[in-house]
Amino acid sequence: MDIVIIGGGAAGFFAAITAAESNPAAQVIVLERSASVLQKVQLSGGGRCNVTHACFDARALVQHYPRGSRELLGPFQRFGPQDTVDWFEARGVRLKTEPDGRMFPLSDDAQTIVECLWNAARRAGVQVRTGLRVERLERIGDSWRVHCTRLEPLPADRVLVATGSSEAIWAMLEKLGHRIVPPAPSLFTFNIKDSRLRDLAGVSVPDALVQVAGARLSARGPLLITHWGLSGPAILRLSAWGARELKQASYSFSLIISWLGDKKLAEVLAGLAQTKAANARKTVHAHPAYGLPQRLWERLAAAAGIPAGMRWADTGKTVLQGLATELCCGAYAVRGKSAFKEEFVTAGGVDLREVQFKTFESKLFPHLYFAGEVLDIDALTGGFNFQAAWTGGWIAGKAMVGNDE
Ligand SMILES: Cc1cc2nc3c(=O)[nH]c(=O)nc-3n(C[C@H](O)[C@H](O)[C@H](O)COP(=O)(O)OP(=O)(O)OC[C@H]3O[C@@H](n4cnc5c(N)ncnc54)[C@H](O)[C@@H]3O)c2cc1C
Repeated sequence: MDIVIIGGGAAGFFAAITAAESNPAAQVIVLERSASVLQKVQLSGGGRCNVTHACFDARALVQHYPRGSRELLGPFQRFGPQDTVDWFEARGVRLKTEPDGRMFPLSDDAQTIVECLWNAARRAGVQVRTGLRVERLERIGDSWRVHCTRLEPLPADRVLVATGSSEAIWAMLEKLGHRIVPPAPSLFTFNIKDSRLRDLAGVSVPDALVQVAGARLSARGPLLITHWGLSGPAILRLSAWGARELKQASYSFSLIISWLGDKKLAEVLAGLAQTKAANARKTVHAHPAYGLPQRLWERLAAAAGIPAGMRWADTGKTVLQGLATELCCGAYAVRGKSAFKEEFVTAGGVDLREVQFKTFESKLFPHLYFAGEVLDIDALTGGFNFQAAWTGGWIAGKAMVGNDE
């Protein structure tokens, strides 16, 4: 049996190894367009590779996937994070868990993962060919012929498309008859020029609520001020869940920030009244409420019209109302986005309604499979994107050799 895998990334390698290990008689070849394989794995997690996430319940795990959560439930029950941990451990790589649940190799070096995958592929007899770009798939009955640069067309009994977010491959699949959900970047940070944030890069709050004005889009979590605007888990979450809507808005929208989690205006006002009573003789600027970082507090107080020397005793109702508004519903103009260097992905891809998730096979064409980011699946940051690639690769790898346990 000839199995051709298009794309030498996380999903393609995992599928190739799984197929070749499950059926040593199968000829498995990986075609990679660039000069080297596994480039994203190498770069991932800031060079440490966040392999997966310590979330071992499939129902909880799927909550981290803005696109693909329903479809991945079954696959995660068959090959989830614990299976990933066991898979790497069986091949000599132990993973460790950080307090936030992200899992990395003990070495803290992505090269460990790259080498592990390479060695496993070599041992299983997978052929890896680089510098070959696939340009067309030709259907011959229930088999395929794979056309790529610099090579005679390759016959294939099974083809797996694991090309990540390649526009050219999506166009090719669309021509073939598959529906492609238009791509949109996910996991990005927001560009904001605002005097309240200027020179505060590095300041963070542990629990903020961010909302897109006029839309039902919000996210909660730590918030970090950067040189360009805002980042941190709350922003990354919002960028993932709102990937399509924010693209439609051309990344230009009003962001409402509560620096105090989900505290309501009335509650904040009551809290400020208490702070006022307890600190009447102190200046507002020098005495932050709610444990907010000093410099951020000063900016928010100034934005509410409170001069540096004003004492709590001298704040009237209007001033406190202005301060409460700044604390729990200040509006900030987002103008553009920046890449989150640790991890970014693309939403969109092969329409999930056209894929059979027991096997990751196309519902339109027999013996054509998909895994990884080529599908309209993406996740929050934290190792979830690789987990989707490992899971899809493993299930497709088994299915292609007729071993879908
Ligand atoms: C900087 C960065 C850091 C990241 N860090 C993490 C992390 O720590 N944890 C995490 O979970 N996720 C992370 N991600 C996301 C993760 O890398 C992707 O979700 C994952 O790589 C998807 O795997 P894939 O195999 O589907 O696609 P890819 O890894 O993109 O692999 C696709 C491969 O197909 C090849 N290809 C494309 N077109 C063709 C063609 N026509 N012919 C032949 N070959 C082709 C490409 O060259 C590429 O090698 C990160 C992403 C980035 C960009």
